[in-house]
Amino acid sequence: MNAQRTVKVAVRHILSDVVKGGVVTPRTRTVTWASGQFQLKRPAEGRHSVELECPVCTASILAEVSDHTRTRRVRNIWAVVSAISLVVFVAALGYAFQEGGKTLPEGQSLPVLFPVSVVAVFVGFAMAPTAWLRSRNHVGVTMLDAPRPRRGHRIVPVRD
Ligand SMILES: [Zn+2]
Repeated sequence: MNAQRTVKVAVRHILSDVVKGGVVTPRTRTVTWASGQFQLKRPAEGRHSVELECPVCTASILAEVSDHTRTRRVRNIWAVVSAISLVVFVAALGYAFQEGGKTLPEGQSLPVLFPVSVVAVFVGFAMAPTAWLRSRNHVGVTMLDAPRPRRGHRIVPVRD
């Protein structure tokens, strides 16, 4: 009950974002941040916005909190998208292998569906994990606005 009424998030203040290497040495990205945790109340229904103060630079960050039902719905949608993407990926891969592996009679080209299936393989491959992560990380809190530099702040879910 209580867990449905509140949500815990962390406001991250990005201190530095350095990308090193890339030519000779492998590319590494180092992001350092300081964060503060907030316990946000969910509205009974709909959405409401809250103002959070960054613990590092005291910038006010505007966030929007969705109710529990809406949050669950969005999570479920992403989970379904992920499952569908996986099915599409497997089916398209099977088809592409089957058609691509055939020895065609002279003068006959591959069916129109073949390039479509190749595209579907890539889309499914990219979408399945992305949607799955979205489903897992969606807590119904989005950052609406933050003063410059906006990109220096991030709101991330906190799991207990
Ligand atoms: Zn800050």
